[in-house]
Amino acid sequence: MKKKDNLPNHPLCAPLLKGDIQALSKAISLMESQLKKHHEEAAGLLAALKTWQPTKKQSIRVAISGVPGVGKSTFIEALGSYLIQKNRKVAVLTIDPSSQKSGGSILGDKTRMPLLSQSPLAYIRTTPAAATLGGVASNTRASIQLCEAAGFEVILIETVGVGQNELSVHELVDFFLLLKLPGAGDEIQGIKRGIMEVADALLINKADGAGAPLAKKAQQFFQAALHAFPQKENGWNPPVLLASAIENTGITEVWSQIEAYVALQKKNGQFLIQRQQQEILGWQGQLNEMLLQEFNQDPSIQSLIKRLALGIKKGEHTAASASKEAIKAFRKQA
Ligand code: GDP
Repeated sequence: MKKKDNLPNHPLCAPLLKGDIQALSKAISLMESQLKKHHEEAAGLLAALKTWQPTKKQSIRVAISGVPGVGKSTFIEALGSYLIQKNRKVAVLTIDPSSQKSGGSILGDKTRMPLLSQSPLAYIRTTPAAATLGGVASNTRASIQLCEAAGFEVILIETVGVGQNELSVHELVDFFLLLKLPGAGDEIQGIKRGIMEVADALLINKADGAGAPLAKKAQQFFQAALHAFPQKENGWNPPVLLASAIENTGITEVWSQIEAYVALQKKNGQFLIQRQQQEILGWQGQLNEMLLQEFNQDPSIQSLIKRLALGIKKGEHTAASASKEAIKAFRKQA
């Protein structure tokens, strides 16, 4: 490494731009590392790549979300296989909330997605939600950029779990696909406003065998439910689709809807605007995280915090006056 991290001659730069998977994995590992020095090196690499690859073809970033067991990995295997048959390079980034370790082994990607994990056109990577220096959202954003630099044209982000996770992933992608199960129980679970509202399409998976009529019912239910939400600004009506990831039906339809959406967004100029807004949001999030880290890692601030806590206990400080004092001290140091 030369003394400045963001020089374009970082050793991973050239192989990564040629699509070398090992270089890509190394770059993502650097970013996910617990060591600040690695993290900074990865940031420098990203900055270098930015200046090098603006002419590369734009990718499509898709989030695939839904409760555990809905069939996300089976569906990603089906959609990814469809795309690689069309000669598209596909990266799958999974955010695993239960995992502490990076590198993709925890969820057993090889068994979860056997076809994709064997294809030279596909790259699969699991990011642990816990124990990352920069936070999930900013690390995943950077992983997306690294995959794009390596020439991946479709980036599928799989989020495991429910809640906050999904909403922050929404800020990373061009299209948000929410998978649903057929069946009445799910109809109640389906009224999770936040996630339903950000979805660009709903997909009732497992529309096969005994599940097929239930899936049709769920489709009607969700179509009606979506009507109750305010119209999207771009005029897009999120469709409710049916698929069977296992029987490979409905996959083409999902992809055509994603392409239709991207085409609409590009036509009305929103595609780039949304990405720029996401970048700003990402930056603001990162800035907040960095400020917090600076604050929390500062030894003199930490001892002041201890003293102030004692002061609150003794009634010498209110929470507000203690916070004010801590911030004042931090400002003085800056
Ligand atoms: P995930 O937890 O959301 O990633 O779900 P998985 O892809 O691991 O699937 C959970 C279970 O549902 C597995 O046993 C799959 O074989 C099954 N499954 C996935 N997709 C389908 C489908 O389209 N039809 C049926 N009948 N089963 C499916």
